[in-house]
Amino acid sequence: QAFLARIESLNPTINAYVSVTADAALTAAEQADARRAQGGQGPLLGLPLAHKDIFVTEGVKTTCGSKMLSDFVAPYDATVVQRLKDAGMVMLGKLNMDEFAMGSSNETSFFGPVKNPWDTTRIPGGSSGGSAAAVAARLAPAATGTDTGGSIRQPAAMCGITGLKPTYGRVSRYGMIAFASSLDQAGPMARSAEDCALLLNAMAGHDARDSTSHPGSVPDYRASLNQPLQGLRIGVPEEFFGAGLDAEVGAMVQEAIQQFTKLGATVKPVHLPNNPHAVSTYYVLAPAEASSNLARFDGVRYGHRAADAKDLMDLYKRSRAEGFGPEVQRRILVGTYVLSAGYYDAYYRKAQQVRALIRQDFQNAFAEVDVIMGPTAPSAAFGLGEKADDPVAMYLADIYTIAVNLAGIPALSLPCGFTQAGLPVGLQIMGNYFEEARLLNVAHQYQ
Ligand code: GLN
Repeated sequence: QAFLARIESLNPTINAYVSVTADAALTAAEQADARRAQGGQGPLLGLPLAHKDIFVTEGVKTTCGSKMLSDFVAPYDATVVQRLKDAGMVMLGKLNMDEFAMGSSNETSFFGPVKNPWDTTRIPGGSSGGSAAAVAARLAPAATGTDTGGSIRQPAAMCGITGLKPTYGRVSRYGMIAFASSLDQAGPMARSAEDCALLLNAMAGHDARDSTSHPGSVPDYRASLNQPLQGLRIGVPEEFFGAGLDAEVGAMVQEAIQQFTKLGATVKPVHLPNNPHAVSTYYVLAPAEASSNLARFDGVRYGHRAADAKDLMDLYKRSRAEGFGPEVQRRILVGTYVLSAGYYDAYYRKAQQVRALIRQDFQNAFAEVDVIMGPTAPSAAFGLGEKADDPVAMYLADIYTIAVNLAGIPALSLPCGFTQAGLPVGLQIMGNYFEEARLLNVAHQYQ
């Protein structure tokens, strides 16, 4: 009730929620109480949370931030939604996001931008901007997000919360509306690493409905939170501190990294020489996959359908033109172009080759260090509208997050202080495959 009241008073300003499921939440809370009275246990039992509106929810609208799906109700729950429900969590509602998770500022949403709770003239980051803003404004104690190229970590950094992108395959993608299937991964967003550990415990694990989900067992992420960091080897890539990085953010991140030496860690430089190619590689591969995934929105099977179509072709064309916003249309155009027969070798194949190099860079670095640290984003939250007309400037906001998705490794963003202007800054901690427990342990030890 406290969260629902807070949502009612603050959401009109923040715009983090696109749907609030108040009645269902109160019923679920009562059911959780009943479960507890019958001896039910578990750290998440009865706790509220909200889902990014990219996860399908049975009987509740799932819009993906798009006009295309503005009235779509799925007949089933995503695996992530199901697992958190099974753990006894109470869904408060669905959270705003960039349209089809394409964006870094939450300004591409059909439902209007989310405002950063620290300064409502600024963006919350994206695409999981609703999730980050909801947790930061205490409109939910925890939220789910998805990260294809930084969409958990960058908004977490800009809203001053903790967000974890797990290893590709750690969490099931079943029921998560697909953007770029080889990059998409769901993860927790919460106030602390400890809260993220509790959520990941429930979210992670093999799912027979997602053939890319990892069959290995899931550790208890809470069990290792208090391990001492004595001897931890931290790598700092110089490629993450070059041109384009805001000086104040850079200094704060360096200072945060130095804090770990007081806990017994050592810091050394590492190299990720292909990182400068990450943004261009991603913006070939992600649109290519998106153009294929989004072919399903044809006005026939589900989603927006144009009125009075002349014939089938007219129905397809107008449904898609009316249903998709400009950024989504741009991605489809780029994606179909790079996949077209004449340009496939020049763009798509080349990008796949560079992706392999980026992956190898991380493996070389992890032969020498346990974790890699750097900024999550090149600046603190920027102003609403500031980059909205310049897609390339917007894409550069992803410069430190995207290589992680191309490699498939896990990474976390942890709040590390505030700028002079009072805006939160995030420290990014990257680990090798399936090292989520270590990332959460390192983040939990940070003071
Ligand atoms: N900003 C990136 C993009 O627009 C990342 C999005 C994401 O991780 N979903 O594609």
